[in-house]
Amino acid sequence: MSTRLPMVAVVGRPNVGKSTFFNRIIGKRVAIVDDRPGVTRDRNYAKADWAGRDFFIVDTGGMLEDSDQALDRAVRAQALAAVEQADVILFLVDGREGLHPLDEIIGDLVRKAGKPLILVANKLDNLPQEEGHHDFWSLGLGEPAPVSALSGKGSGDLLDKVLEMFPDVLEEEVAENQIRVAVVGKPNVGKSSLVNRLIGEDRVVVSDKPGTTRDPVDTLLRYHGLGLVFVDTAGLRRQTKVKDSIEYYSSLRTDRAVYGADVCIVLVDATEDDLHAQDIRIVQSAWEAGKGVILLANKWDLVEKGTMTAPEWEKKVRERVPFLHWVPIVFISALTGQRIRKCLDLVIEVDAERRRRIETHEVNDVLEELVGRQPPPHHRGRRVKLKYATQVTVGPPTFAIFSNFPKALPAHYIRFLQNGFREAWNFMGTPIRLRIRSGKDR
Ligand code: GDP
Ligand code: GDP
Repeated sequence: MSTRLPMVAVVGRPNVGKSTFFNRIIGKRVAIVDDRPGVTRDRNYAKADWAGRDFFIVDTGGMLEDSDQALDRAVRAQALAAVEQADVILFLVDGREGLHPLDEIIGDLVRKAGKPLILVANKLDNLPQEEGHHDFWSLGLGEPAPVSALSGKGSGDLLDKVLEMFPDVLEEEVAENQIRVAVVGKPNVGKSSLVNRLIGEDRVVVSDKPGTTRDPVDTLLRYHGLGLVFVDTAGLRRQTKVKDSIEYYSSLRTDRAVYGADVCIVLVDATEDDLHAQDIRIVQSAWEAGKGVILLANKWDLVEKGTMTAPEWEKKVRERVPFLHWVPIVFISALTGQRIRKCLDLVIEVDAERRRRIETHEVNDVLEELVGRQPPPHHRGRRVKLKYATQVTVGPPTFAIFSNFPKALPAHYIRFLQNGFREAWNFMGTPIRLRIRSGKDR
């Protein structure tokens, strides 16, 4: 089973309470997906849940504050970006102040998009006495749902409605022999070019997913008897770009694509001297999410021979980001097609590594050898024993190691074990996880 999280976007003119609403919805229980510097708000999107369903919620307000455009143009850009991303749009208006000309602009845009939408009249703190929201009927978006983001009134009913609007095909069965692949990277590194080239390759047969209740967003590519499902390629292939906020929305897309993938192809621009902070953030988010990772240094056709060799480039980036030591790096050109097939082969290899199972006796042999080589440091004068280990799961490979003092193992020792496991089995391109648990001798 693989899931793609539905996306709820909160749009509306400034000051209607978007960010108050957003904070109310995410509450304290949710994992913050990212804190995005460079946007004035501290949080712009997060994972939230209601009645047992997880979803992403986006507050598009930060974008507006960032923009130096005229307000109405910025509002338009914001609404368009939301439309592009969202499964459900929450269009907030100020229920106290009543209809505002900017509400009409946004209303026009979101209505044309034809996506599931709820008009929300906020700041109705004294429900149900307050009746201030009737003039919003003229937007032609139905009856506004009354809420108070400040007190939380009405938000439960609203979320119930949102859940009903989620497309029900988001949770989909993934066939045994399918690998879900995300192509990610900062803007202009060549993601669309790569995807278009892969899809244009004559040796592969391509078909969009059979029509479901939503647009086909993923692309299936048959390769060596396997199905490679390139997730969320629709946006890439369409090449729609909201100029004003490319970086902001591309990071949003990245998180979503990574979430739904088994293996992430991270593109970087080989013509640049070094990895940028954004490249590192992207590759790190894939790694930390437990996904297989392949790094592609694209635009290699532009790198003048003699100025920089592939081994030099590799060495440099691996020194910069230590976990890249375990990540395959390929120098490609999405433009000429150089080494494109090699990438597909690597996707298959990395996916296999990520699903690889090591026999328990083998895990214990390696553990014993490592402990023999370097025993864990004592804990308050007592010996720390690592008695037994087993691989508990795959995707990514996760090992449980049982100890008499599980909390006493220092981070550097866990790293030592992790490196030892790497030496033994390599696990190319996949993160591995070690969990130290309490356990008796056995
Ligand atoms: P945004 O620009 O749309 O993100 O709006 P903010 O969330 O920053 O809110 C703008 C102002 O409206 C702030 O002063 C909030 O405290 C206030 N506000 C937001 N929601 C409510 C509400 O439900 N009731 C009341 N009375 N004020 C609210
Ligand atoms: P995206 O924003 O990551 O999807 O990047 P695009 O695929 O739109 O590519 C951005 C620009 O880089 C376009 O002008 C491409 O033609 C160009 N480009 C992409 N890949 C290569 C490559 O391998 N070599 C060269 N020379 N240009 C490339």
